[in-house]
Amino acid sequence: MAQDKDQAVHYETTALSNHNQLAIIWLNNPPVNALSKAVRVGVIDAMHKALADRSVAAVVISSKQALFSGGADISEFASGDYEPPLPSVLHLIENADKPVVAVLNGPAFGGGLEVALACHYRVTFAANKVGLPEVNLGILPGAGGTQRLPRLAGVAMALDMIVSGRPTPAKKLPGVFDLLVEDPTALMSESVHFCQKLLDAGAVIKRTSDIAIDPASAPADLFAQFRQGMAKQTRGFFAPERCVQAVEAAVALPFDQGLIKEGELFMQCMQSPQARAQQHFFFAERAASHVKDYDKSTPVREIKTVGIIGAGTMGGGIAMNFANVGIPVTLLEVKQEALDKGLALIRKNYEGSAKKGKLTAQQVEERMALLTGSTQYADLADVDLVIEAVFEKMSVKQEVFKALDNVCKAGAILASNTSTLDLNEIAQATSRPQDVIGLHFFSPANVMKLLEVVKGEQTSPDVIKSAMHMAKKINKVAVLVGVCFGFVGNRMIETYGREANRLLLEGANPEHIDQVITDFGLPMGPFTMGDMAGQDIGYFVRQSRREFIQHDPSYCVVADRLVEQGRVGLKAGKGAYLYEPGSRVPIADPEVMVIAQQEAKRLNIAPRKHSDQEIVERIIYPMINEGALILAEGIAAKSSDIDVIYVYGYGFPVYRGGPMKYADEIGLKTVHQAMLKYRDELGDYGIMWFEPAPLLAELASQNKGFASA
Ligand code: NAD
Repeated sequence: MAQDKDQAVHYETTALSNHNQLAIIWLNNPPVNALSKAVRVGVIDAMHKALADRSVAAVVISSKQALFSGGADISEFASGDYEPPLPSVLHLIENADKPVVAVLNGPAFGGGLEVALACHYRVTFAANKVGLPEVNLGILPGAGGTQRLPRLAGVAMALDMIVSGRPTPAKKLPGVFDLLVEDPTALMSESVHFCQKLLDAGAVIKRTSDIAIDPASAPADLFAQFRQGMAKQTRGFFAPERCVQAVEAAVALPFDQGLIKEGELFMQCMQSPQARAQQHFFFAERAASHVKDYDKSTPVREIKTVGIIGAGTMGGGIAMNFANVGIPVTLLEVKQEALDKGLALIRKNYEGSAKKGKLTAQQVEERMALLTGSTQYADLADVDLVIEAVFEKMSVKQEVFKALDNVCKAGAILASNTSTLDLNEIAQATSRPQDVIGLHFFSPANVMKLLEVVKGEQTSPDVIKSAMHMAKKINKVAVLVGVCFGFVGNRMIETYGREANRLLLEGANPEHIDQVITDFGLPMGPFTMGDMAGQDIGYFVRQSRREFIQHDPSYCVVADRLVEQGRVGLKAGKGAYLYEPGSRVPIADPEVMVIAQQEAKRLNIAPRKHSDQEIVERIIYPMINEGALILAEGIAAKSSDIDVIYVYGYGFPVYRGGPMKYADEIGLKTVHQAMLKYRDELGDYGIMWFEPAPLLAELASQNKGFASA
């Protein structure tokens, strides 16, 4: 007697032997079976119905969707309306006096897995996956997950799952599942059979909360060792340590008290700025693909074959993205030698992955077989997409695009990976600017998740839509941006490098600045980053942009002197730091500050004492200010897009949500006032670079955030 198909929970019964009925509670809340209010209410009603019906001998909870359940409905977090709370639903399930069996027809995450853990038995298919990903939202499983999972999976496994948030294959969790079926299509029939056997054996009820954790499974140093092991990956994050404490409570306390402790730790996380930031980021990432430049009716051009021009650092990495998903690539270079070198490097990369066990030898060969080298443009006549990754010079790019215009079929998408050049000018070299788009990959292109999709003045909506779809296919997070120097990411990072260099002239040293920035949460400070990338890269960009910086005689002058003295960074063994041969560990070099002092004297820059706070404000706030200009100019469509670019492209700490969310969190008034303060305190330099963006000033005066802009 199935009910209305639109209901979030269906209830039906099916006959077992001996006049017994099996009640089946179907979760049915598309698309991911989130445990929204309607589902929680529905499960409570269905449970009461099953328990009141004397003919029902056992209960199954399963799902009508592809997922068993994706977990809590996080859109409800903002409203604070948690009634009826999930723990109360689970309490009802666990304390039922008839056996309740969770039948996981698909992945169960977060609250979804917590539902299963509160049932008396769990059945699924061997290839299924489950996990508790709450930590990625800055929180912890708050419906008993931290207390029940250690009881079923063991303490060490539970710790790993809860702190990493990673999905785990069901077959690695023998303690959690009472039956694993090989064939997913046989899951329901086998589950009914399982229930019948349960009843035949006396319908024993197995409550997870009754399980006593074996002290031997949690030796005294387990938690200390775990904390040590996770220190590096979780640096700066608030929730992981609370996850560990919750599992510690599961070991140390009786179940009911452990639940109370879990609730306290959950609330600590939930009320932290990090939870707000990480939840913002969760939505920001999804919102990046919601683009106003096209709609549902806009057609998508199919991309079955790809051409790449230039098999250098970027071209090779870009090619790997396509080979990884089975799309054939033709790689074009002018000289055979460069082509051979590029292909050899790709092979070396793949073989490196194989050595680490990430690929089989056969997969390496399959991927290499998808890559064809060429020195003839004619070989690109039939490709659906071409990505140019040649030298960063307008004349070279225009020549390439002219050649592409001559040979490529009508409807081919012509893309450039330029980091700084004007895409519109590149498009003008063709007779089809509507087909030209920027695809700005980040280095290493086979690893970095971010893709800035750059729309030119004439890029057609279907080309934009096709590029956004293509990005998803190759597992990138795409953000649509407009044309300007450096687009969003590199335009904002320019302020970061400039300010770090200015601080040197005022007497702060690279070690101090880098330490403050890593403490803020970035993976490395600006000088370590400059040395790793090569100080010469920034130098060449500055040389090509003299008109932009000539009004500031202090602009990155220390970095200029370093490069002029051959101190180009790690590859030279010296840059802003010194390096022992073969080592990547930076060693402070007083010589750098001697150069800084000489330059400061020449430029008449007075020394200044910098607190850690000032270093953060001086380096991060101008980036935010640039972000405000970018928003006002429409180069980025929304502030959350900038956050996605910064977290995925530059390692901005996700627990701060991205630079724009960070600004919203501390208040735009704070940022605005600090900009004014430095504008006034830093003389001509302040006037040049600390003028608040009009949008920042306007929102600050209205007490609003970028998110509302
Ligand atoms: P690279 O020097 O490593 O590679 C460029 C390759 O292009 C070389 O192999 C060269 O032989 C080849 N080439 C040059 N002219 C050519 C032509 N006319 N036809 C065919 N091949 C030609 O440079 P890269 O670092 O890979 O940069 C390539 C592009 O990607 C540039 O536009 C750069 O701004 C952009 N980019 C670089 C990075 C990065 O971090 N390296 C990041 C994002 C974007």
